[in-house]
Amino acid sequence: MANVSGSSPYLGEVPKPAGVTAARKALDSGILKGVPVAVKDIIVTADGRKSTAASKMLEPYESPYDATVVRKIVEAGAEVIGKTNLDEFAMGASTENSALGKTVNPWDPTRVPGGSSGGSAAAVAERSAPVGLGTDTGGSVRQPAAFCGVVGMKPTYGRVSRYGLIAMASSLDQAGTLTTNVADAATALGVIAGPDPLDATSVDRPVPDYRKALTGDVKGLKIGIPKEYFEVEGGAKDGGVQSEIEEAVEQAKEDLKKSGAEIVDVSLPHTKYAVSVYYLVMPAEASSNLARYDGIRYGHSVEREGSWQGSLEDVYFQSRAQGFGPEVKRRIMLGTYALSAGYYDAYYKKAMQVRTLITRDFEKAFKDADLLLTPTTPTTAFKLGEKSDDPLAMYLADIFTVPASLAGLPAISVPAGFDKAGLPIGLQLIGQHWDEETVLRAAHAYEQRHDWHVKEPPKPKEPQ
Ligand code: GLN
Repeated sequence: MANVSGSSPYLGEVPKPAGVTAARKALDSGILKGVPVAVKDIIVTADGRKSTAASKMLEPYESPYDATVVRKIVEAGAEVIGKTNLDEFAMGASTENSALGKTVNPWDPTRVPGGSSGGSAAAVAERSAPVGLGTDTGGSVRQPAAFCGVVGMKPTYGRVSRYGLIAMASSLDQAGTLTTNVADAATALGVIAGPDPLDATSVDRPVPDYRKALTGDVKGLKIGIPKEYFEVEGGAKDGGVQSEIEEAVEQAKEDLKKSGAEIVDVSLPHTKYAVSVYYLVMPAEASSNLARYDGIRYGHSVEREGSWQGSLEDVYFQSRAQGFGPEVKRRIMLGTYALSAGYYDAYYKKAMQVRTLITRDFEKAFKDADLLLTPTTPTTAFKLGEKSDDPLAMYLADIFTVPASLAGLPAISVPAGFDKAGLPIGLQLIGQHWDEETVLRAAHAYEQRHDWHVKEPPKPKEPQ
């Protein structure tokens, strides 16, 4: 099995899946019977496996209950094949922030798989599981999908239950799927979508049969190209978007036109603030969600170490100091600062106001277009370690994915070819609230024009 020691998508042992051919047949007929599913380890499972969020804070944790998305896939006949690696508490864009393991990009083991759902994306790319579950707060399903050459679908906020997702930023977190093709994304989304009494933010709307939306054509669809995505700081004009990715977008416009779509220009003027807004709202919510891991109520505790003698306050300080990694600490500090008395209005409140403007931009754009087309990422997969010492450079990897997250919109990343180094390129389609059908329909029509999604990465050598 492609579980190369030290670089696996999985945390812990991975059993060999039973009957991959049977799983393929099941998926092709739109069910999950016997399908091995790789589950990001921020989604809790009560199957005897740990649920760690890739953090020392939760390293020994075994959940007494299944997340709703896990319950649903298991009820649909799927088998959880393993828990996959991620950036600690889903904070990151490379999976390098994991405290528990390393995962490399199956297309090039010197490169990152993206993040934070890098393990699930790599598992699907290396074909050890045809379906992966991930979570996407600011791009964590779409960005690793782009880096690993697979399909990553983030549904509308509220479409899928968050019950059992270890919370990072509650107004942004959403479960999504990683698959090798769009039809499988439609199948898997159909299984996990729907209201859940255990998540008050899940919305009671009927779940359509997404596979029926895959008509193979995009006749009459208006697809908008937001010009700001090619002008953002660090964007095309100063060489920030890799030329092959820009070319892929140009090619996709032609492809979609040939399939019957009309391409229109749209404007999202507040896009340039999206990363700044995201990196205030997300740490603010994370700092609040992660307050519970204090060594008394939850998580790693110095008090359980036999010789501990300190005060209660020391238990809090020391447990958190030992349990959280550097990126998590950075965000807790940023978020606590943004929420603190005296700074709340200047940072958190202001960010929420700009978030509304970003959402309104999309509403306006959707008066002229049914769907938006953008790159998923400014570059293809970067080298391991390349951005580890530069958090801002790492944050900019999300520049094209965070706007849809802030607005709660559904979006997909689909394979769009390869760059000169042979690394996958991803293209993003963003839809209107609740309109996953149009997103999937256009992604599928585009996918059908190429064979990129059936290309597999080279098989890694088994350790001797
Ligand atoms: N890379 C982004 C971040 O670090 C997105 C993470 C996510 O979507 N979970 O916050």
